[in-house]
Order: sequence, then structure tokens, then C-alpha cells
Amino acid sequence: MDVETLLEQIRSRGGRVTPVTRLVIERALDNPEEHFRAVDLLQHVLDTEPTATESTVYRTLDRLVEHGVMERSQIGEGAPRFHVGHGPHEHLVCEECGGITDAPTNLLDGIAHHLHDSHGFVLRIGMSTLGGTCRDCRYADDPTGD
Ligand SMILES: [Zn+2]
Ligand SMILES: [Zn+2]
Repeated sequence: MDVETLLEQIRSRGGRVTPVTRLVIERALDNPEEHFRAVDLLQHVLDTEPTATESTVYRTLDRLVEHGVMERSQIGEGAPRFHVGHGPHEHLVCEECGGITDAPTNLLDGIAHHLHDSHGFVLRIGMSTLGGTCRDCRYADDPTGD
């Protein structure tokens, strides 16, 4: 997936492509593991488009989400996070460093079945945030731990 393909996808659906649109997509594609806040993307956009504001970036992100290019995730209580769309997944969030790691949705298959059978509850796939401590933080606390 490259920038031009995604921009073409937007244009073909009648969407508007601005310099900010391009900058946001470039940044997101260069860092597919990152979960950007609008303000993180603004830092990058400002290098080239000094008049851009956080609301410019938000409007651009909203359009990109509408066009299926970016995904928005609410992770914890902070600002929404954005990344290039790559299908449903769950999020593992480190309570020490705030790091966010993607995890496959089948991680929760057993839990989903249990919830359905015992509570009649249907879990929404790709919407869960699981808190804990990431590998890096665990090693920092206890370098001899596993
Ligand atoms: Zn951590
Ligand atoms: Zn994610």
C-alpha cells in the first residue's frame, strides 16, 4: 500500500485531497505500528504546512476514516488514536509507558464464547483494550524476569 494508491482511492470516491491529507497519510504509512493522536500528526504537518491547526488535522482524519483509509480507536480515556486501516484488532495498552500494541481478534475467541454462553452477551470484535505491563517495562523493573 502506498500513498498514491490511497490518495487515488479517496479521489475515486469524490473525496478531496489536500496537502495535509497527503502529509497525514505519508506519516501514518511510514509508521504503521504507531497509534497517532491528531496532535502527534500535527507536529509533522507543521513542518511543511505551517498554517495547519489541530482542527485541520482532525477534519482531515475524519474524512480519511470515512473513506476507509484510516481507523479511529478510542483507547483508554485520552484523545482518539488513528492508524492506517488494517482490519479489526484488539489493543494491549501498557499502564506504565502508555505503549500500544496491536493483538489479533482471535485472542478473545474463548472469552467471546464464554460471554455468549453464560451471559448471552455478544462481544464486539476489534473494540477491546486490555491493560497490563509491556515486555520492555517488565524487563526494566526486573531484568532477570522472563
Ligand atoms: Zn510499557
Ligand atoms: Zn491498533
